[in-house]
Amino acid sequence: MVLQQLGGSITRALQQMSNATIIDEKVLNECLNEITRALLQSDVQFKLVRDMQTNIKKIVNLDDLAAGHNKRNIIQKAIFNELCKILDPGKPAFAPKKGKPSVVMFVGLQGSGKTTTCTKYAFYHQKKGWKPALVCADTFRAGAFDQLKQNATKAKIPFYGSYMESDPVKIAVEGVERFKKENCDLIIVDTSGRHKQEAALFEEMRQVSEATKPDLVIFVMDSSIGQAAFDQAQAFKQSVAVGAVIITKMDGHAKGGGALSAVAATKSPVIFIGTGEHMDEFEIFDVKPFVSRLLG
Ligand code: GDP
Repeated sequence: MVLQQLGGSITRALQQMSNATIIDEKVLNECLNEITRALLQSDVQFKLVRDMQTNIKKIVNLDDLAAGHNKRNIIQKAIFNELCKILDPGKPAFAPKKGKPSVVMFVGLQGSGKTTTCTKYAFYHQKKGWKPALVCADTFRAGAFDQLKQNATKAKIPFYGSYMESDPVKIAVEGVERFKKENCDLIIVDTSGRHKQEAALFEEMRQVSEATKPDLVIFVMDSSIGQAAFDQAQAFKQSVAVGAVIITKMDGHAKGGGALSAVAATKSPVIFIGTGEHMDEFEIFDVKPFVSRLLG
């Protein structure tokens, strides 16, 4: 379900409830069930939705509502706050500092948009006066280095990789060392994302992370992966210290639910969203406008 549809369903549910003459437990439950359905269809994880429903019931005081307050506003505000709470893990992501070398490692499954996002992230900072560099530590997928090289060249960002070397750890370490010597302040390590060999992938992520000691690990997730979001995010978090999330392809059949699940699973904030294939289709993630859009 796309965001607008989700917002539409929730708005309708709230409208129906505020049309009722008496708001009692039954009417509130019907409204919350309707909202629950909309959130589930939008791939928000079941447990998150259930917890949210319980919290809203605790917050919304039915006696207050009966006393002629604006019922719809009170409930809408409670839902808004609950969704914001899910998206706010309580601590900000590590923020690299301009002029001070930071290593940022990107992880995520193949096809999630990782390589594209690495370049977007580099380009975004370059425009703000940083000196980013890209390291291709994906030795698994044929063409990975070429793709990164092409993107980096287009954006005039220095890059490092190898057609011959098969050890991703070695390349990652060499690349990071080289760019530290060259005084780059944002050294971005792109990693492999092969499917169906998850155990080997997670072990590789662990090794690359151990060898390069990243200041920040960013988990890249495709917004269209649906209910798989929670498990996928959690699996990465268990292998490496994921500290931030980027959700890609929010321009397409963008579902909002995955973002909520990824934050809950990694206990890390979403920092950017990808909104297209181009280098500049990249936005800072902001919780409140995102939730407002979700609620329509
Ligand atoms: P990787 O395998 O994770 O490195 O994924 P890629 O960076 O190669 O991206 C996979 C595909 O998704 C490519 O065709 C990208 O152009 C596309 N892509 C990545 N990010 C976005 C996005 O935000 N929006 C859209 N529409 N496409 C994207």
